[in-house]
Amino acid sequence: MAQPRSLFEKIWERHSITTNEAGQTLLFIDRHFCHELSFHAFNMLHGNDRKVRHPERTFAIPDHYTPTTGLDDADYVDGDTQALVQNLINNAKRNKLNLFGLDDERRGIIHVVGPEQGITQPGTIIVCGDSHTSTHGALGALAFGIGASDVSHVLATQTLWQPKPKSMRVTVSGKRSIGVTAKDVILAIIGHIGAAGGTGHVIEYAGPVIESLSVDERLTICNMSIEAGARAGMIAPDEETYSYLRDRPFAPQGAEWEKAESFWRSLPSDSDAEFDREVTLDAASIEPMVTWGTSPEDVLPVGGRIPDPALETDTKRQDILNRKMDYMGLTPGQQISDIKVDRVFIGSCTNSRIEDLRDAASILKNRTISIPAIIVPGSGLIRAQAEQEGLDKIFEAAGVDWRPAAGCSMCIGVNGDFVNNGERCASTSNRNFEGRQGRGARTHLVSPAMAAATAVTGHFTDVRDMEQN
Ligand code: SF4
Repeated sequence: MAQPRSLFEKIWERHSITTNEAGQTLLFIDRHFCHELSFHAFNMLHGNDRKVRHPERTFAIPDHYTPTTGLDDADYVDGDTQALVQNLINNAKRNKLNLFGLDDERRGIIHVVGPEQGITQPGTIIVCGDSHTSTHGALGALAFGIGASDVSHVLATQTLWQPKPKSMRVTVSGKRSIGVTAKDVILAIIGHIGAAGGTGHVIEYAGPVIESLSVDERLTICNMSIEAGARAGMIAPDEETYSYLRDRPFAPQGAEWEKAESFWRSLPSDSDAEFDREVTLDAASIEPMVTWGTSPEDVLPVGGRIPDPALETDTKRQDILNRKMDYMGLTPGQQISDIKVDRVFIGSCTNSRIEDLRDAASILKNRTISIPAIIVPGSGLIRAQAEQEGLDKIFEAAGVDWRPAAGCSMCIGVNGDFVNNGERCASTSNRNFEGRQGRGARTHLVSPAMAAATAVTGHFTDVRDMEQN
């Protein structure tokens, strides 16, 4: 009788070409995304006089350094960043890659565009020189970030040597309460297992709460797998996945669709599949969350209080907490809802999809913001959809800076959108380490609805206390 296998094992085995003496497996790679920082890999490739093995499987999308105020020369922060963008475009043209260039309405953040275009499909292996490649696992793919020399290897061979990670299943049971979003669920998971809780593992998210999520919400969950230390995050494909993918430009069409769907239906983990680690979380215990420290594991419900390092018995841990507290400018015992915020960022590959923007609009409608806030759509198509739905009018009436061009923006702050030194930002992105959004920036990770509520009141506010329009 065949051994029961998990979703991860089924994909891994199907892509295994050979295994070496060191126990590493050579995997076939179905899709490869490149952004501006892939230039090292292209330099290596060209330096070795190699060509891209499968240009049709390789996608180039500038997103990190592109401005969001517009795409004219004057919108770039400087000539160096513009050169990085142009370099990617030149490499894509030279190697005849699929290019989503500056004048292409489909362009946006790689991890938003891939699923949106149907490039991301169940059962595939997807890589990119970017840690948040884990996002694509939401559609039942095995997707992970790789380093520059690996990018060069994939460009040249469409294969990659990898040690086989362990498997972990995180089951979210019960039912989400009103006001609790996918962002709150993943922050609660990371708070529960810790920022290193998934190290060396591929996480499969499962259970009734995960199954009830839309694809946009699943993308938010898998996006942050890397913040739990995991190699990748995945969710089994189901009816929600198939209906999301149907008729997307890069999805199979006609008879090919039937074949693909029948294969996709064979992918979910067998009922008796075993995992190296199992974790269960009850959704009833999850509330709207806010991170307070410099790791996503430093997270509390919005009604919580900042921890007191003096109560910590482990002195090493006490030092770490003191440092976090100092950097974030917080005091022990402070009520989260009393923390005043300087600015708000709604965007990034975690939360810049249409459902995120609708969530933000439901709070901002007929209200005015009291602190600066920018909203950056994840792709040009999301921007167009939001404008068709009139969300831009809601944002602008509230006083929000609705950006015309998609990109990573204030998530990483390398395109000119950054948080000033010492400022506190409520951000829907995924990383809150020191300086992530700019030198001295203090980042608090929240959901789009929580970010919008904070923009209105100027301090962290329980979104459940605000009427949603
Ligand atoms: S939005 Fe942020 S996390 Fe996502 S790819 Fe861009 S820089 Fe990385």
